[in-house]
Amino acid sequence: MQSGRARSGIRNYLKGLQQTEAASPGDKLLKQAVGALSAKPVVLTDALRQLYMAEYGEKLHDFAEVLTEIGTGRLLPVVVGRRMLELAGEQLGEDVRVAPVTIRGNEGGTVQLSPCCNPIPGDDILGVITKGQGLVIHRTHCPNVQRVDHEKLLEVNWDAQRDRMFGVSVSVLARNERGALADIAAAISQASANIESVDTQDTHVGDGFIHIHFRLQVEGVEHLERVLNGVGQLQVVQQAERR
Ligand SMILES: [Zn+2]
Repeated sequence: MQSGRARSGIRNYLKGLQQTEAASPGDKLLKQAVGALSAKPVVLTDALRQLYMAEYGEKLHDFAEVLTEIGTGRLLPVVVGRRMLELAGEQLGEDVRVAPVTIRGNEGGTVQLSPCCNPIPGDDILGVITKGQGLVIHRTHCPNVQRVDHEKLLEVNWDAQRDRMFGVSVSVLARNERGALADIAAAISQASANIESVDTQDTHVGDGFIHIHFRLQVEGVEHLERVLNGVGQLQVVQQAERR
């Protein structure tokens, strides 16, 4: 017959086992992220986990919860991994070089392309770590980035793989002639870009010219260049530029 103490011991053991199993996808993702970020192998010791929890553990009670959040997509493994590498460096008195994070722009809720500067593949970009520890991607020269604390910035690059289109705003200065809009729209389609919306309201600039604002879908910077070149070559167009 088992004693009460033995039974509760087994229960605790099983509970611990369940937690470990539930957290394992997050553990794997975090280890992958750390491996990708650091040139030399870094072991995520208990001491490091405790340091991390001391900084970010307001809502989460132990590191297993951090791993669960990573596993379910609520925390970005690269963001947690980067901070842990920095802590490891501080612990060892070394400067840990952290490699840039690669993003594709379709990661879902954890990575957002900021509407203030509309980054598209090919742009120089930076990630801003938000309070919820997701990433907001800005163009490097976006004024909103200049105000962000350096420690909240993450070096990021675009993944070379392109499997989606990205929204971008374009402004066209054209002669106010019949058929101008149709010609421009045709040139955009010719360059294989999609038109999301067109705005010609309040855009008359006098002297027989109008500003037309387009919201387009393009693959990236090079594709956008082709679109702008195509539009710019039209006789009715004076200027076509990204906004
Ligand atoms: Zn921005």
